[in-house]
Amino acid sequence: MTDYVFPPPPQASVAVDGSTARFAIRRVFCVGRNYAAHAREMGKDPDREPPFFFMKPADAVVPAEGEVRYPPLTADLHHEIELVVAIGRGGADIDPDKALDHVWGYGVGVDLTRRDLQAQAKDMGRPWEWGKAFDASAPCSALQPADRIGHPSRGGIWLDVNGQRRQQGDLADLIWAVPEIIEHVSRSMALAPGDLIYTGTPAGVAAVQRGDRLTGGVDGVARIDFRIG
Ligand code: MN
Repeated sequence: MTDYVFPPPPQASVAVDGSTARFAIRRVFCVGRNYAAHAREMGKDPDREPPFFFMKPADAVVPAEGEVRYPPLTADLHHEIELVVAIGRGGADIDPDKALDHVWGYGVGVDLTRRDLQAQAKDMGRPWEWGKAFDASAPCSALQPADRIGHPSRGGIWLDVNGQRRQQGDLADLIWAVPEIIEHVSRSMALAPGDLIYTGTPAGVAAVQRGDRLTGGVDGVARIDFRIG
């Protein structure tokens, strides 16, 4: 038995729909600007320049239900509803034709973003972590196994705040589809079981306030429903 100077932290994990077994999380990759209309709203040309990625800590993933706390240091907390891919089989240099064999399942997540800190980081050429990788920044639904729901490549993705539609898109509009995202990540780092990939958000990102209720989902995958505390 390894001796530790203090007890190791609990394993970060996310629920699996219809099961008591949980999905142990290794890393959280996030794709930047992956829907053309969102790229445009962020002032960027949506042409297929290579995808880029940032990361969040595994324990930033919290249930997308109940209450998620409003983080410190921001006055501009934005929602980004995203399809989440859960990797079950690792690999490097994964061929896009084989990429879906590495997917264990799917969920629906929200890439919560301190937009003011992210904008400051962009302006100053600094890293994005303070804007993106804070505590509880990655609410996620229970996962659905791919052997139950298949591999969705189209279907609505939407988010409402207090019942008002804010974001609306379709998975078919992803600039980089799931197999291509897996190909790109695995060329840079070997993917491993437990990795999650947040695949980018459609247009309509905007600020939320304490007390706001966020509901949303991806057709055929899952829904989210939580309040900002
Ligand atoms: Mn995002």
